[in-house]
Amino acid sequence: LEPKEEFEHKTLAMDVMRPRQSDPPLSVLTQSGMSVDQVEAIIADTSYSGFPIVVSQESPRLVGFVLRRDLVISIDNARRCQEGIVGASQVLFTEQTSNPVGPPPLSLRSIIDLSPLAITDHTPIDITVDIFRKLGLRQCLVTQNGRLLGIITKKDILKHMAQMTNRDPESILFN
Ligand code: ATP
Repeated sequence: LEPKEEFEHKTLAMDVMRPRQSDPPLSVLTQSGMSVDQVEAIIADTSYSGFPIVVSQESPRLVGFVLRRDLVISIDNARRCQEGIVGASQVLFTEQTSNPVGPPPLSLRSIIDLSPLAITDHTPIDITVDIFRKLGLRQCLVTQNGRLLGIITKKDILKHMAQMTNRDPESILFN
């Protein structure tokens, strides 16, 4: 990394996180209530590497984070090998509860990261960069008063640093 002063401005996590105001909203999954079909539609409509999991759309409190590839593999396996799993099955990231109506649910709790790193939207970007470097993060979530606001990936940080220093992101070593 180049000397910190070059990107040590008043930039905060909220300035680097996605989505931007003009972007579509953050793609999240809810801990319960979504069907296999709905989750598959989100996977098909986006290309993100992962999805935050929240309590509900009304209460966007962070429950965990799931990688796209784990989600794809698990749903695919369940559809092929698990008795009763169909498009209408409910996907559960919570502890399994009884589901008396409808097809049996698909529990995917075991594939989620239950403690993804989250910072507040007011975290200065130089501290955010330090956290990424020291913890070797690929992404980090951004919250405000406990509500999930956005996400920052390693690439977002690299692009931001490149912008600040007027350089090609590829030329910045960030490991
Ligand atoms: P790339 O896929 O090009 O390697 P990346 O390493 O930043 O990009 P992605 O997860 O694909 O990883 O994210 C692409 C962009 O979308 C980033 O700017 C990121 O902040 C944003 N992003 C990541 N996940 C989500 C999500 N679930 N909802 C909305 N935006 C997201």
